[in-house]
Amino acid sequence: MELDVLAFAAHRDDTEITCGGILIKMKDIGYKVGAVDLTQGEKGSRGSARERAAESEAASKVMGLVHRENLNLPDARVEVSYENKLMIAGVIRRLKPKVIIAPYWEGRHPDHYNASRLATESSFLAGLKKLEIGGEPHRPFKIIYTMPFQGFNRPSFIVDITDQFERKMEAIKCYKSQFLVQDEGGIFPPWDDLYDRFHSYFHYCGTLIFKKYGEAFIVKEAMEIEDVVKMPVRSV
Ligand SMILES: [Zn+2]
Repeated sequence: MELDVLAFAAHRDDTEITCGGILIKMKDIGYKVGAVDLTQGEKGSRGSARERAAESEAASKVMGLVHRENLNLPDARVEVSYENKLMIAGVIRRLKPKVIIAPYWEGRHPDHYNASRLATESSFLAGLKKLEIGGEPHRPFKIIYTMPFQGFNRPSFIVDITDQFERKMEAIKCYKSQFLVQDEGGIFPPWDDLYDRFHSYFHYCGTLIFKKYGEAFIVKEAMEIEDVVKMPVRSV
């Protein structure tokens, strides 16, 4: 298997929420797209790990992923250990992605920033010839990071997901145990409220590039522009 794009996330619905649009868009273009979830989400307040597995499979179909796997690390205890890095480096060697999408490197939930570090450091290790695991060395060319909803930093770029937004929302909605089952105490917002929230956020990202919906990403390197006459997004 040689993937073009591979998304890493700590929990099963993280991928759909943070980068479902770009994954669907890359699939629409004709690229091979996959996702790896580090945990089964067994510590989540709602839904069993088994329910979430079925939901994740349904969401993968909506997004058109050619590959999805779960690494079964303990939920709420994703650790940046050498052992975990080797395991993920093995996954990267097996799937040979050109581009990795990783979670943002800061945040409240330790699983999220630890998943970010694991994806980043394992991508490097996977390219080392003498690494003590099997498989051909492979280092993804590019790592892009999803943006946190709160504490909005300046994104490096925004992808127009106007044509993919409804499918992204459909993929999120596959996680029925997370978003559609209303709890007694009403601690979790109902789906309509969540839809509004996602709609507002991705619509806002879209307005930054004068499109209806967008997903924002950040890269650590500079972006190269070849032709300044053809640069997109009108100045304001
Ligand atoms: Zn998460």
